[in-house]
Amino acid sequence: MTGMKITFLGTGTSVGVPVIGCDCKVCTSSDPRDQRKRSSIHIAASDGTQWLVDCGPDLREQCLRAKLRKLDAVLVSHAHSDHIMGFDDLRPFSWHRSEGLPIHALPETLDALKSAFHFAFDDENRSPGYFHPHPHPIVDSFFLGETRVTSLPVIHGNVVTTGFLFETAEGKRIAYMSDVKTIPDTTRKLMQNLDVLVIDALRFTPHPTHMCVDEAIAFSTDLNCPPTWLTHFTHYIHTSTLERELPDHITMAHDTMKIVV
Ligand SMILES: [Zn+2]
Ligand SMILES: [Zn+2]
Ligand SMILES: [Zn+2]
Repeated sequence: MTGMKITFLGTGTSVGVPVIGCDCKVCTSSDPRDQRKRSSIHIAASDGTQWLVDCGPDLREQCLRAKLRKLDAVLVSHAHSDHIMGFDDLRPFSWHRSEGLPIHALPETLDALKSAFHFAFDDENRSPGYFHPHPHPIVDSFFLGETRVTSLPVIHGNVVTTGFLFETAEGKRIAYMSDVKTIPDTTRKLMQNLDVLVIDALRFTPHPTHMCVDEAIAFSTDLNCPPTWLTHFTHYIHTSTLERELPDHITMAHDTMKIVV
């Protein structure tokens, strides 16, 4: 198989779906697509390089479910708990790396990780079993293997947040932004001619820090309708109901879904 393989490890919002204590139609649904771990993707590039975007509290189960055995890097979009609280569970991926596991994030996000997981960044505290991260502050673009990665800064409440543009060795362009309310023009300009867009579509009603379904559809349409996958859903989103209402170029992502680009 050639091309880049993207696996959705999680497509849920910050509390996950089902929600603890909730008996709603989605939380009690028998459709496995209505069960959502916290949002994250795994990417396997055609050159063999593998990485994650985000490492939330479901990370360990997600890695076991997807049978992940190695990672070359982890990218962190922002420092909300649902995207970083599995950080220490990355330990096995750093055990065989003398330099540590590369963690690519904006400087502000790295600062938040160093504050929340100070023990992992302490070089005096280097037991072989501990997590050994190797921070890489993101400045514009960098390469993971043959894939060029570009930061796509977005507005998501008051936390510094970036999406990511992946330009593959095969010339494909993939944008991932699971947490976004507004996309600045400077970022939008970087998002022309996409082969894949993955974007936040939290729920049906507007939210102060996330796109709702209509906003995500409008943005995708305004970008000339690249093939689009929606993610980061609450329990207000019933998969088999929403999927019937979406335009042809838009698909709902669900946990374990794979796409090859
Ligand atoms: Zn989130
Ligand atoms: Zn519910
Ligand atoms: Zn967030």
